[in-house]
Amino acid sequence: MAPIRQLDVVPGVHRAQDAFVNWYLIEADDGLTAVDAGLPKSWDTLHDLLRATRRSRDDVQAVVLTHGHYDHVGFAERVRRELNVPVYVHDAEAEQARHPLRFPSERNPVLYMWRPETLKIMASMVASGALWAPAVESMTPFADGDILDVPGRPRVVASPGHTYGHVSLHLEDRDTILAGDALVTLDPYTGYRGPRIVARAATADSEMAFESLDRLAATGASVVLPGHGEPWRDGVEEAARLARAAGSP
Ligand SMILES: [Zn+2]
Repeated sequence: MAPIRQLDVVPGVHRAQDAFVNWYLIEADDGLTAVDAGLPKSWDTLHDLLRATRRSRDDVQAVVLTHGHYDHVGFAERVRRELNVPVYVHDAEAEQARHPLRFPSERNPVLYMWRPETLKIMASMVASGALWAPAVESMTPFADGDILDVPGRPRVVASPGHTYGHVSLHLEDRDTILAGDALVTLDPYTGYRGPRIVARAATADSEMAFESLDRLAATGASVVLPGHGEPWRDGVEEAARLARAAGSP
């Protein structure tokens, strides 16, 4: 699948989608923050996006990870090494980011691979380098509630469940929450669309993930930018309600 590049999904936030995985570039006066880092091939998309926004590599000031799974750390280590940019990761997620391909889940992902849609998505991720997602070797830690001193000034909203140190990022001035995989509109393990948590194939603790939906809803953000699937513009409360109703396959 060709990458999708969508400028200003909300003002000053650009969306990239590689192999059904979203990551975002926040643009502010003091530079750019990448929220998540896609797959290894997303390195190329990053450069496309820099060209499209007439920005240079020097403008990239930070990478902030919602979590440390293989499909969200793609270019993080490379940006850290080659551009000398810090990679911000929640304290409780550091170990996961060091082992992006090894993660706890409630069910074996292999059990989901009979689904044609799942196979299509996984094949696409593999073609974008998923199996070679590099570990993040050095991280800048943060905690729940922090306002990160990076372009866009996101506020950290801990949203554990998908992984134990998962966070979402609230951009108050843009009325937007970057939800990572705490709340998606496409589940890569089933191919189901619409607001939901990710299937048990890749979720450490679904009960915890459902509880975290309350924390996301409490932000009252109008726009949800998920780790997989299309942006959601009908409010985070409604998205959380639908995600609870959708259950957890
Ligand atoms: Zn993911």
